[in-house]
Amino acid sequence: MHSSRNAINVLVVDEMYDPLIDNSPPSHLTKPDSFWANDYDPFIYPTLERTVNTDIAIIGAGYTGLSAAMHLRREYGVDCTVIEACQPGVGSSGRNGGFVLPGTGRLSNEQCVERFGEKTTAEMYQEYQRSVDFVDALIDQLALQKSQQTSIVDCARTRGGYLKLAHHQQHTQQLHQQVKYMQKNHGENAQPLTQKDIESNYLSGVQQFGGVYYPNAFSVNPWLLVQGIAKLTQNAGVQIFGNSPVIDIKTKDSTHEIITRYGKVKAKTLLLASNAYTPNHQFSILQNRIFPVISSIIVTKPLSTSQLSLLNMKPGLMVMDTRPLKYYYRLLPDNRLLFGGRGAVTGKKAYLPRYQSALVQGLLQTLPGLKNIEIDQFWSGWVAISFDDYPRLYFDKAKQCLYSAGYCGAGLAFSLYAGKRLAQLYAEPEAMPDLPFWQTPLKKFPLAMLRRPALNALYFKEHCKQWLQRHFS
Ligand SMILES: Cc1cc2nc3c(=O)[nH]c(=O)nc-3n(C[C@H](O)[C@H](O)[C@H](O)COP(=O)(O)OP(=O)(O)OC[C@H]3O[C@@H](n4cnc5c(N)ncnc54)[C@H](O)[C@@H]3O)c2cc1C
Repeated sequence: MHSSRNAINVLVVDEMYDPLIDNSPPSHLTKPDSFWANDYDPFIYPTLERTVNTDIAIIGAGYTGLSAAMHLRREYGVDCTVIEACQPGVGSSGRNGGFVLPGTGRLSNEQCVERFGEKTTAEMYQEYQRSVDFVDALIDQLALQKSQQTSIVDCARTRGGYLKLAHHQQHTQQLHQQVKYMQKNHGENAQPLTQKDIESNYLSGVQQFGGVYYPNAFSVNPWLLVQGIAKLTQNAGVQIFGNSPVIDIKTKDSTHEIITRYGKVKAKTLLLASNAYTPNHQFSILQNRIFPVISSIIVTKPLSTSQLSLLNMKPGLMVMDTRPLKYYYRLLPDNRLLFGGRGAVTGKKAYLPRYQSALVQGLLQTLPGLKNIEIDQFWSGWVAISFDDYPRLYFDKAKQCLYSAGYCGAGLAFSLYAGKRLAQLYAEPEAMPDLPFWQTPLKKFPLAMLRRPALNALYFKEHCKQWLQRHFS
């Protein structure tokens, strides 16, 4: 990744690390180029410059790796060491939209029932709800850490609920049927809404045909959250090394040797928490089992009073629509609008101005009443798509290697809870609930080299479809 700083001290990035092309993430970054990191400088963890012996070596200091390390240490007394290419949270964990939602993957309720049956689907939903409650409780723990800087204490937690909008008439009925099923079978307290309900009570001037409101979801500043969890993990007794990309792994006599530029870690067990940032050729156990796809975000300058009254957005509300290539948005505590959606296909192109313009256009089409918006920041990050649309936590006992990956862009709450589950999978697997997430490894993408051409074709098809809808419907 090449970067520089401009006059307003925002990190300007020309190119982004690309997991399908580069050998490892760059070692020089100490924070992401996201809006979140502008005002909070991270604690810098030392570079690995010696040989460390440990029980479990964890590669990646995002939510997954840090949470796994913290739980292994705290709950099972396992000695573990985290090795991070950059610094904690420089991957997706410090650049996401901050939506803490119950769910992961890309399967609808209907698809889950078809694949796993009603009982398992209901248990999966309980797991999702547990993950949201878990993040809530983690933030409460941060508040108890006296040494923590005050801005981290509540991670800007905002309880405004989540609104899923039907972007087309035919999706309204689907959404409403789904929510009725979930109310009956999963005790879900979501509320089906008409177009009018939304216009009067949630959000005005948006193109929509009804939707569903989930009151239990909340939003956070994801960078503060990952900083806080890194500190909790270190305080639990875990060694964290930063700016130390893993460049090779050798396994001999049941010991993994994890080699970085200036040091190495020797461990009986390896835990891969590199997720979407995993260099495709580095770890054979994950090779071609993740498709890294770019998600991008723009943040506007604070909206004016007239823009705010035009939107009339319920405080703290998070919104997403039902498009195959979704847009997601929310108002930040200082009245800026955060708006995210698809980005480029390769890391090399991630920061081309046309991808920022495409998001601005998406924003103006989604919220047509908003005029004269000014963009303060644009950034991108990788999300990990799995072949069959749901993540896996997997322990290959013969290879003594665990991983958790493939959240398909919905991993804030799930990845943190996955860390707890990974610790359990290692130390007391018999206590794990019987769910599909940890029964099989991630599936390999067949014809993996065609992933990017196929994604380009999908983007082109959706672009044409939207153009036709705009001009002829
Ligand atoms: C733009 C964007 C918006 C998103 N919005 C949301 C949202 O609002 N809500 C939601 O639920 N999810 C969202 N997500 C997804 C969510 O951020 C991720 O699912 C979650 O952060 C995954 O955490 P992780 O720890 O598994 O991975 P990461 O945070 O990506 O951590 C992986 C780490 O591994 C390190 N690494 C990789 N290779 C090596 C190596 N060779 N050596 C050493 N270290 C290595 C990387 O540097 C990285 O820090 C979004 C993602 C993006 C990109």
